[in-house]
Amino acid sequence: MAGEPQADCLFCKIVAGDIPATIVRESPNTISFRDINPQAPTHVLVIPRVHYANAAELADNEPQLCGELLSEAGAVAEQEKVDVTGYRIVFNTGAGAGQTVFHTHAHVLGGRDLQRLV
Ligand code: C5P
Repeated sequence: MAGEPQADCLFCKIVAGDIPATIVRESPNTISFRDINPQAPTHVLVIPRVHYANAAELADNEPQLCGELLSEAGAVAEQEKVDVTGYRIVFNTGAGAGQTVFHTHAHVLGGRDLQRLV
């Protein structure tokens, strides 16, 4: 069923509390935790508790939750105080774009000069 936990999903295991994460913020539908391999002074992942492979799948199935995820990303940026200088929200989608964990996650990056990508 859409959104159901997947036994082989690393982030479903973080949601279940089966593997540790440094959680910085929680809401009823989302969890935000520090990336274990940070690419910037602030590098936080915001995930929905439910399982969808990527952001587009989440948006197709639960558009309101997709909005919530972005609100949480903004709240993380405020909490980390990177909202003032600027931050980036990234959704890698597909292996060819560097996605390695196939459970929707927004990277929130900030705290250093971020080169313009596009
Ligand atoms: O966009 P992508 O799928 O590559 O991002 C997955 C991210 O999850 C990586 O940045 C990786 O460092 C992070 N990760 C993590 N905790 C884990 C496993 C992966 O923060 N236990």
